[in-house]
Amino acid sequence: MKNAIINQDAELLKMHNHLLTGDNISECLTCGACNSRCTWFDGAVDDHKGPIPRQIVRMASLGLERQLVDSGMLWDCLLCNRCTEVCPMGITMDVVVRKARSLDMAWDLVSGDMQKGIKNRLELGDVNAFTKEEFVETVEWISEEFGDDVDDPDAEIPYDREGSKFLYLPNPRELGLNLLHLTAMGKLFYGMKETWTLSSAHTDVTNWGYFVGKDEIARKMALMVVEPAEKLGIETLVLSECGHGYHVLKVLLEDLIGRKPKFNVTSIPELALEYAKKGVLKFDASVHPYTVAYHDPCNLARKSGVYDAPRELLALCCEGVVELSPNREDAICCGGGGGMIQDSASTKIRMTTGNPKAMQMKAAGLKHLATACLSCHRQLGELSKHYNLEIKVDTVAAMASESLLL
Ligand code: SF4
Ligand code: SF4
Repeated sequence: MKNAIINQDAELLKMHNHLLTGDNISECLTCGACNSRCTWFDGAVDDHKGPIPRQIVRMASLGLERQLVDSGMLWDCLLCNRCTEVCPMGITMDVVVRKARSLDMAWDLVSGDMQKGIKNRLELGDVNAFTKEEFVETVEWISEEFGDDVDDPDAEIPYDREGSKFLYLPNPRELGLNLLHLTAMGKLFYGMKETWTLSSAHTDVTNWGYFVGKDEIARKMALMVVEPAEKLGIETLVLSECGHGYHVLKVLLEDLIGRKPKFNVTSIPELALEYAKKGVLKFDASVHPYTVAYHDPCNLARKSGVYDAPRELLALCCEGVVELSPNREDAICCGGGGGMIQDSASTKIRMTTGNPKAMQMKAAGLKHLATACLSCHRQLGELSKHYNLEIKVDTVAAMASESLLL
């Protein structure tokens, strides 16, 4: 960087230092503790050198927004907040990076896939442009088979049922590439013996407004979930296994929409565990006669505090749960976070950002791994293949469904 001029009037600088912790970049001690925590592989991929968190904070705090945008670090950052865990001043990297991504001058850095997905979601309700008619056709089709799946001719996959206790909000992959996962979730609801429904008004747990840092987009996407759910009069919104979807719809929701929703929010692994503890759901652990390592999704674990429920549910469905090292607050990102996996051109770079995770998986010496996020699930599966790890990757809820005793 040559001849950088400190700019105290920079738009980015004005966005910061409003909170006691999180965006308090002017309090950075330049200690560099954050740098030591970034799990980016030591080495460049083409022109990607990886984020240097201290440098990101210093650039922002000096008003060097043009240099920060041009550095390439904004979209290399995985928004995993592993660096944040050790910051003595509580500076939160996903807050800092998302604000920088939200600058108009940074919009051109947003991948074409992300821009298209956001447009689809805002205009059609689904990042993949899945229409309401396609939704209805797909759900009715899998519903026809569902009776055979649970050996009950009256069983179905319901949608748009007002007054249901639960509303399940799927991941777009469950309505496209991974329909079996949606059927598996249907089995869990069937076993709970409660009323539940899908909604044709909103099919999508994701919120790409979060990735681009634009709160007005994130807010619109959140309201696209909240308002139809309230109209259906449900008691609890049950989120598919989606790390950032959970972080937005559970942790950030009230701040985003400026009020409490008229329903509770939980995730499918948390709900299944609750019904297991009540004795309603019962599992046969011998269906998976092996130990399984658990991967903490950054958005679900470090950023939302959900550590134990997926582990406890998994423990009911297999021979035992093994920890990767490090784990929980110190867990290593899968390498696809921060919107990276949503960019179809990212495969090569993701195999490098995922290198530390792949080495960690290898070191565990197991053949089975589970996680509670469908994006992590995809990335971990691709890492297993790329690094010849021969590790089968599942989701926790899918394993629970396979083990379910009906
Ligand atoms: S949030 Fe994660 S990827 Fe981004 S700088 Fe921090 S440790 Fe690195
Ligand atoms: S750990 Fe915190 S205080 Fe230290 S350099 Fe990083 S952002 Fe600044």
